[in-house]
Amino acid sequence: MTGGRTTARQADLDVPPGTRLFLLAGEWRPEPGKPASRDTLVSVVAVRQPSRGLVLIHGHACNPHNPDCGRHHCWEAHVVVAAITANLVGAR
Ligand SMILES: [Zn+2]
Repeated sequence: MTGGRTTARQADLDVPPGTRLFLLAGEWRPEPGKPASRDTLVSVVAVRQPSRGLVLIHGHACNPHNPDCGRHHCWEAHVVVAAITANLVGAR
């Protein structure tokens, strides 16, 4: 039995590089305080420490299945922690 989404565990957010996250509009913020208006798929490069339910993620949105932009990362946004958790448990 799992607890579902009752408790958001904000510590120990373990997202290995290369993890693909499907994020819905409203779950990620290209700029602080500005929820995105479209869904996106990103390949994770690095994840910062969560803060107040949001976490800063560096990743690739160029070609999430095989990043080809040649940069360290081409995508950066604050993401709702619960959305990441939903991806990690395979709910998406
Ligand atoms: Zn890229």
